[in-house]
Amino acid sequence: MVTTLLLIAVGITACVLLWFGCRLVFNKRPPAAEKPAIRTCPLCFSTLQHKERLYSIVFSEIGSARIIHIHGCPHCSTGALVRKCPVCKRILQTDDVVAARMTFKEKEKGVHVHILGCKACSTFFAS
Ligand SMILES: [Zn+2]
Ligand SMILES: [Zn+2]
Repeated sequence: MVTTLLLIAVGITACVLLWFGCRLVFNKRPPAAEKPAIRTCPLCFSTLQHKERLYSIVFSEIGSARIIHIHGCPHCSTGALVRKCPVCKRILQTDDVVAARMTFKEKEKGVHVHILGCKACSTFFAS
């Protein structure tokens, strides 16, 4: 139980880094011209407000990359919204997660996240 909570806490921290990293990587404009960042949940495409975080768990480390399991956001993790796999578009069941590979980009000082897919379309879940 404590381990689960710890993993969730680590996951939330990772998500903060993740979205901050994406902003650095994808937004090349100077900060002065920058509009407030609009973040979307990769599973339900809900727009996330500043305080809303994705729920994810750091699952394992492969070399310098980390595999994370994304559960969703505050809007879809409760089952209120339909969650779809961003790769195969399959509708996810309540306990389904989507795997992603998170790598740290030292050059941009950010985090890059590559969505691998769900258990139906990603070979990651087969191992
Ligand atoms: Zn969502
Ligand atoms: Zn899928």
